[in-house]
This record gives sequence, structure tokens and C-alpha cells, in this order.
Amino acid sequence: MSFASNGDLLRRFGWNDALDAAFAAHAPAGAVPGRVLLEHNHVYRIVTADGEWLAEAAGRLKHEAAGRHELPAVGDWVAVRPPASQSAGAGRATIRTILPRRSQFSRKVAGRETEEQIVAANIDVVFLVATLDEGPNTRSLERYLVLARRSGAEPVVVLNKLDLAADVGGDVAEVVAAAPDVPVLAVSAKDGRGFDRLDSYLQPGRTVALLGPSGVGKSSIVNRLVGHALLATAEVRDWDGRGRHTSVHRQLVMLASGAMLIDTPGMRELQLWDSGGGVDETFADIDAIGASCKFRDCRHDREPGCAVKAAVDAGTLDASRYESFLKLQGEREDLTRRQDERAILDQKRLSKIANKALKAMQKDRGR
Ligand code: GDP
Ligand code: ZN
Repeated sequence: MSFASNGDLLRRFGWNDALDAAFAAHAPAGAVPGRVLLEHNHVYRIVTADGEWLAEAAGRLKHEAAGRHELPAVGDWVAVRPPASQSAGAGRATIRTILPRRSQFSRKVAGRETEEQIVAANIDVVFLVATLDEGPNTRSLERYLVLARRSGAEPVVVLNKLDLAADVGGDVAEVVAAAPDVPVLAVSAKDGRGFDRLDSYLQPGRTVALLGPSGVGKSSIVNRLVGHALLATAEVRDWDGRGRHTSVHRQLVMLASGAMLIDTPGMRELQLWDSGGGVDETFADIDAIGASCKFRDCRHDREPGCAVKAAVDAGTLDASRYESFLKLQGEREDLTRRQDERAILDQKRLSKIANKALKAMQKDRGR
């Protein structure tokens, strides 16, 4: 890819007239427009019409940010000051302003206080992935739908593992009933069936992302979209110095169709949001009795002073209902733990890839 000094390159990344107008109104003198491809430890890789730069947020931007949600994220369009010296890897570009976001996915991060962090911005379409092998979990899909709608991106339900489906028609009908205004597509990442139907959402300049619980096949779909075993093999492949695998090292990847795909650790962690599982709603009666437990975080299992166990002993709460509550609570805790472990692994792996990409780029520029 050549980075000739023209606006066509930016248009390929999704630049449009609305952004042009926002840039004209907001950009400080000497800044140029760019899009964030990768973020790692507050260092950003940015594509501009003049090339790709490593960048940091300007002190002023950090200082004036009301919270982490006002810091740059992958997918953001920004106004960036070129590096002071473009030679010999000296200096980094400076992000001065974030242009208004069309959509954003955020998550709460626990710190001194719980803060909102943007995990990806300016996504046009989000594929909500579920599976056909054991029937779609519509309850889980509903939660992801809420998340997608809140973001401002257009949701599309992708039912994967079509090759294992027992009753495609029935499963699709069930999802359509739960989400009547959302397109529902059935695909198989294994044999590629149905992927042509994704094409209408993968148009040039559009940005897509995937959301869904682990195990539904998100990585497999990404691999197929990108055209090689990107996620599974990225960490064992070395940067070859000629940029052959450059796409591997980005969190925003240009697909052959001209659409872009965003895959960040943050997007993967959004699956944790799903771990609520509806146990509390299903057992509202137990929840109400639990308000009188000695401990606020009582699990109604072996804790002393438990009002729920007292209710079972007194015969006012059905023992079998209590058993079923304990069982579901256990399952939910297992699921959360598995998802936590998975998220940590994803985070580590993607961090490693990002780190490598930034190092390689610094080395390149040092030549
Ligand atoms: P992720 O956690 O959502 O990223 O899911 P993965 O892509 O890691 O897939 C989870 C498992 O499902 C892996 O063993 C995949 O090989 C398998 N898998 C993914 N897509 C398909 C599919 O379309 N058909 C079948 N049969 N298996 C699939
Ligand atoms: Zn209790």
C-alpha cells in the first residue's frame, strides 16, 4: 500500500464529508486527519494520508479529558500533529483532538472509581454471533442486542456452525421472533457456507466488529474474513520486515472487500457483560428474602446468618426451588470464571501482538 499524499487513502478508511466538516471546525493548525489502527499502553498507531505514525495523546488532550472515555481508542478519527522529525524514528506524532464518534463501545473499568473506557469507536455494523449447534441462546442474544443498540452500530445476528445445525429454520425463526427488526444470517465458519450473505455488510469504507460469548466461533469467522489463520497463528509468526503480515498486527484490519474489521481485547472482554445469566430475575423471591441475610454479598450457601436457608428450614421457601437456585448460581459462577480466564488469555495474546507491531514499526523507522 502506498501512502501518497491524497485524500483517497483516508476515504478507503471511511473518511467522509461529515468528518471533513468536523475536522475543519476542530483541528488545530498543523494537524492532519488520521485513524487509530492500534492502541497499546497509550501508544497509538495511526494511518494518515502521509503515512503511518506512532502517536501519543497530547498533554492537553489528556489533561482536559473528563475521563478515559475522552481518550483516543481504536477506530477513532483524530487530528494529529506530525512527528517533529520524520527521520530515524525520532519523535512521535501527537493526537490533538478526537473527532466526534459515530458509534462507540465502552466498558466499565474498575480503578479508584469505576470509569468508562472506550474499547472501539466508529463501528458501522456489529455481528452478534451465536451458534446453531445447540440452538441459539436468545436470552444471551437479547443482552448483546441491547449493548449493540446502545453503541450506535447496526446489529446483525450471525448464527454460526450451520454445518452442525439440526433445525436451521426453527432456530432462525426463534431469533427473528426475539429480534424482529434485525437481519439474521446463518453461516458456517468451518465450510464457508452463508458467507456470501455477509458481503452486503462488508462494503468499502465500512467498519465491522464481532460480539458474542466465547466458543461461538468469532475467531473462526474473523479468520475466514481475513483470509488466513490470523488469530491462531499471529503470535508464532514473526514480522518479516517487508510488511507481509502487517494486517496481523493491527486491531483495525483492512479486508480484501475494502471493509474494515476491528478486533481489540476490549471488544473481547465485552462478553463478560453477558455473565449475569438472568439468575437474579428468575429467582426474584430468593433475592427478596436475601435482603435480610447477615452479609450483603451472601451466596445463601454456607454463610452464617442466611435468611434464605432459614426460610428453607422454616418451610416458607420450597427446598427444591432452593436447590435449583444453588445449581444455577454455581453454573453462572463457573461460566464467569471460564470467561474471565479466557478474557485474560485473549488480552495477553492480543497485547503481545500489538507490542510486537509497535516494536517492529520503531525498528523500521530506525532504518
Ligand atoms: P470464539 O471463542 O467465539 O472466538 O470461538 P472460536 O472461533 O475459537 O471457535 C470455538 C470452537 O468452535 C473451535 O473449536 C472452532 O473450531 C469451532 N467452530 C467455529 N466455527 C465453527 C463452525 O462453523 N462449524 C463447526 N463445526 N465448528 C466451528
Ligand atoms: Zn443468604
